[in-house]
Amino acid sequence: METLGTMHHLIQTSMLNTQEIHTILSRANTLAKQNLYPQTLKNKTIITAFFENSTRTLSSFEIAAKNLGAKVIRLDVSRSSTSKGETIADTAANLNAMHPDAIIIRHKNAGAPEHLARFITCPIINGGDGARAHPTQALLDLLTIANHYHQENLNSSSINLNLKGKRIGIIGDIKNSRVANSNLELLPRFGLNITLIAPPHFLPKTNLPTSHSLKDCIDKLDILMSLRTQTERHSAQVYGSLKDYAKDFCIRKEMLKDRDIILLHPGPVHHNIDLADDLFLDNRCKILNQVSNGVLVRMAVIEHCLGIKI
Ligand code: ASP
Repeated sequence: METLGTMHHLIQTSMLNTQEIHTILSRANTLAKQNLYPQTLKNKTIITAFFENSTRTLSSFEIAAKNLGAKVIRLDVSRSSTSKGETIADTAANLNAMHPDAIIIRHKNAGAPEHLARFITCPIINGGDGARAHPTQALLDLLTIANHYHQENLNSSSINLNLKGKRIGIIGDIKNSRVANSNLELLPRFGLNITLIAPPHFLPKTNLPTSHSLKDCIDKLDILMSLRTQTERHSAQVYGSLKDYAKDFCIRKEMLKDRDIILLHPGPVHHNIDLADDLFLDNRCKILNQVSNGVLVRMAVIEHCLGIKI
């Protein structure tokens, strides 16, 4: 029987304490075992308002909400009144007046979800804001890593998220990546050691170890998370070409050899720039596990944000 508890926004991973993260990810693993999903969101209405392009995150949230029985209304941004000059605040206030149970938003401007939250009385879930945060991506990355190292998670009712001593290299346009930002906040809380690997123009200011050479640090890594060059966020091209970048930072099979290492990427992948084609079928590549885990994590996140107690 579900009851309603406190509602929450999810704008950044830092809004979740460790206990809440355990609850959400353990719930995601429990949902993975269900033949029929519980209809915990029956009679709930969820609006998705994606003001920036998306393939995985939008469909993943919509499938997640529908799996649990919610009605999902997608704001068709290209046909919405935003294109007639309506402010995002007015759009938000109008959507709110239709009494949705949650709004999931993606926006090119960092801070847009908080801005919207001022005009809205239901939970806001951030599906990615500018280069700043993508909390559900980091949660699904953490789940993918934890389930790989603790395969007992899949058969147990509790979840082990202790990744102490595991070493992850985040490679690519880290400076402009909201995926990196959310992972930089989340992963160290579970014991992961992070090295940032990128050319100087893609590195943020940081106290973490950094490297300009994947070859030099690959022996010291258990996990590689590759990130797409965020060309849409560059005001000017500060690098030669993506092909030049690929020479040093594309992950290739001959570089991995038979190393015991797993590969992650949030997608979309720049083929043969981020990751060589022949690695997609390698069983160390966990990209499609990430996508499957994404639906489960978002189911659990929506329940959490709506305050549904199981
Ligand atoms: N899909 C991820 C995001 O929305 C990563 C990317 O676009 O490169 O941030």
